[in-house]
Amino acid sequence: MSLAPGQPVIILKEGTTRTQGRSAQRNNIAAAKIIAEIVRTTLGPKGMDKLLVDNIGDVIVTNDGATILEKIDVEHPAAKMIIEVAKSQDHVVGDGTTTAVILAGELLRKAEELIEQKIHASTIISGYKKALDKALEVINENAIKIDLKDRATLRKVITTSLGSKSLGFALDKLVDIAVDSVLSVVKEVNGKQRADKDDIQIVKKIGRSLGETELIRGVVVDKEVVHAAMPKRVENARIALIDSPFEIEKTEFSAEIRIRDPLKIKEFLDEETNILKGMVDKVKAVGANVVFCQKGIDDAAQFFLAKEGILAVRRVKKSDMEKLAKATGGRVVTNFEDLSPKDLGRAGLVEERKIGEDRMVFVEKCENPKAVAVLLRAGLERQLDEAERALNDAIMNMIDLVDDPRIVPGGGAIEEEIARQLRQTAGKLSGKEQLAYLAFAEAVEAIPRTLAENAGLEPVEIMAQIRHAHENGQRAVGVNIFGGGVIDMLANGVIEPAKVKLHALRSSFEAASMILRIDDVVAASKKKEEKKKEGESETPEF
Ligand code: ADP
Ligand code: MG
Repeated sequence: MSLAPGQPVIILKEGTTRTQGRSAQRNNIAAAKIIAEIVRTTLGPKGMDKLLVDNIGDVIVTNDGATILEKIDVEHPAAKMIIEVAKSQDHVVGDGTTTAVILAGELLRKAEELIEQKIHASTIISGYKKALDKALEVINENAIKIDLKDRATLRKVITTSLGSKSLGFALDKLVDIAVDSVLSVVKEVNGKQRADKDDIQIVKKIGRSLGETELIRGVVVDKEVVHAAMPKRVENARIALIDSPFEIEKTEFSAEIRIRDPLKIKEFLDEETNILKGMVDKVKAVGANVVFCQKGIDDAAQFFLAKEGILAVRRVKKSDMEKLAKATGGRVVTNFEDLSPKDLGRAGLVEERKIGEDRMVFVEKCENPKAVAVLLRAGLERQLDEAERALNDAIMNMIDLVDDPRIVPGGGAIEEEIARQLRQTAGKLSGKEQLAYLAFAEAVEAIPRTLAENAGLEPVEIMAQIRHAHENGQRAVGVNIFGGGVIDMLANGVIEPAKVKLHALRSSFEAASMILRIDDVVAASKKKEEKKKEGESETPEF
């Protein structure tokens, strides 16, 4: 920065860098494009995996867009904004992250060409916005309503979502698990069907194989049965869920009680024991044969519980207590006095099992569980992690369908239909905006094109075939990834939730326009922050 000699006007702190105008824009677009380039090759069933190594040397193998972007460490603010798109897509709809990032990258690439032609960023943004609205309309018009009871169709959506992950022979099983787990936790909120991700617990355990993954109609509690003399297996369980301790309340401050008479000591101890026994008697009296306690269970109480043949688990996490209540239909009770038979939850089976190295308590075969668990198995840790990410996507697809039960054809078909209709309606717009509108059409075509490229097909040829089909009214034609050429995606069961596509388009537009609006990047010096990290004081330097 050059300043007039003798007259320093310091506005920005020393070390601050500033890029402005065209060059700021160019840098931002370049950074965003790089991010899109990274995930591009992972799109679709034939997409490749990425091997990531983090700064402590941990290795991850994945083709999940959100995961890749979450793990790579980027500095550039515009790149970070693109990563936000992936995060939002992942968080809100759970799938379509790669699609959203590729779209954002393409929108920016096209914008750059338009800027070169002296079209102002604000004109590009307004053209893009009109195209976005049209695109959403095309999706809404082409979306097909499905019935949540139509299992075959649900399976197709999930198979499409999981199709891009390397699950091998376990695919069918995971599809069923995703469908069943979500359907069982569907509830009605204000007259609308909803499913909540939190009601599906995923428990990962190394060992066995992916094919041995199971759906537990209940909860898996990562704790052991508290006392060796207790039963390890209880059928037709009647479960008490208690959130206060089976212990004598200790006073907050340390109190000292001096008892000189040995008989009095016994009396004092007996008194404590009696209180604990009273608690156990209460549990017994309401008919419980299993206890989950959120707090501690005193040795003496354990002994009494064991004597009554009651299976008990202590220090259960609050979140697990809530899941237990949902799964078993029981109520978490705070006060022993309040415990009544109608508070008890039910499960066909409660059993402690050894899974790998750990003992865990399975509460399963619940009648109508509103919380379920998936016990995910795989021989290798990386495989287990990737399977979890895949299952998460699949579950999110199901949740999206519960929320909005409409589907669109995959394989780039809906994107091509959007592109076609944009081209068809572009005439309504004036000169420069029209160019942006058409650029949007080309940007969405990046999806079928990339799918073709990643499948090793000739993109130019495939795109010509797809365009031709759509111009002839075949709206569901997309890339035949496995056989080459093009096919009707609906007829071939390659379908996706409309919600995934709607969100991907919206969020990629938002990111692209946000980046285009920036013409000034002011970056503070990194130095100070780093120093603080090293634990140095904030005393000013002279
Ligand atoms: P994203 O992170 O965007 O979900 P994926 O790697 O999961 O990326 O790929 C999704 C894309 O792959 C979608 O466009 C979808 O339609 C397409 N796809 C999935 N299965 C098939 C298939 N069998 N044939 C053609 N396209 C498919
Ligand atoms: Mg996907």
